[in-house]
Amino acid sequence: MKKINGYIESVFQSQDAILEEVLRSIEEHGMQPISVSPSSGKLLTMLVSLSGAKNVLEIGALGGYSGICLARGFGSDGKLTSLELMESYAELAKSHLTKAGYGDQVNYLTGLALESLDQLARDNKHFDFFFIDADKENYENYLNACISIAENGAIIVADNVLAGGTVADEDQQPKLYTEHMRKFNEAVAKHPLLESTLLPIGDGLTVSIVNK
Ligand code: SAM
Repeated sequence: MKKINGYIESVFQSQDAILEEVLRSIEEHGMQPISVSPSSGKLLTMLVSLSGAKNVLEIGALGGYSGICLARGFGSDGKLTSLELMESYAELAKSHLTKAGYGDQVNYLTGLALESLDQLARDNKHFDFFFIDADKENYENYLNACISIAENGAIIVADNVLAGGTVADEDQQPKLYTEHMRKFNEAVAKHPLLESTLLPIGDGLTVSIVNK
């Protein structure tokens, strides 16, 4: 998986000063280097752009890397709502989105994402694109919460679904979240309201269309 991803990035990824600055800043702040891979980020931009989504929800902001990728897809007339546990991460992400030119188009809701999702549902908010990239044990809960506030035809993307390849390789030492990802992938694949596939880019992304 590492070799293939290295190859994809060497051929298709060009230098990106804004995103590289975000990665440096994350490191300087002593945060974990767990942003999406550059090729996953590029795919997020393309999926938002191709789908025409204008009202995007992200679960897990970290330093704003994926937030910038999502915002690039909707351009000047979209909105990003981003759910993040840590107040300080949301502040850093907001500063990066602002530097990238999207400060007025992003709203961070801090605290437990499941609680924020409940509140969004109570407020009757709806979204046309979702990106799930937070605590793995809640992925299935996030999926169901996203479906309940999705517009018909919305897209749901989730990251890390291959768990470094361990979901498919019994010979590899499983990661802490391997079993969660296996269960999540099966739930996505079998969900009656979703049409889905799994792309082996970065650490693997499920991509689903919601048919309500
Ligand atoms: N999507 C980000 C990117 O690519 O730039 C990376 C997100 S990082 C993998 C996961 C994030 O989820 C962390 O910032 C973490 O603080 C946040 N998180 C973990 N558990 C959470 C929870 N229960 N509710 C909300 N956010 C949570």
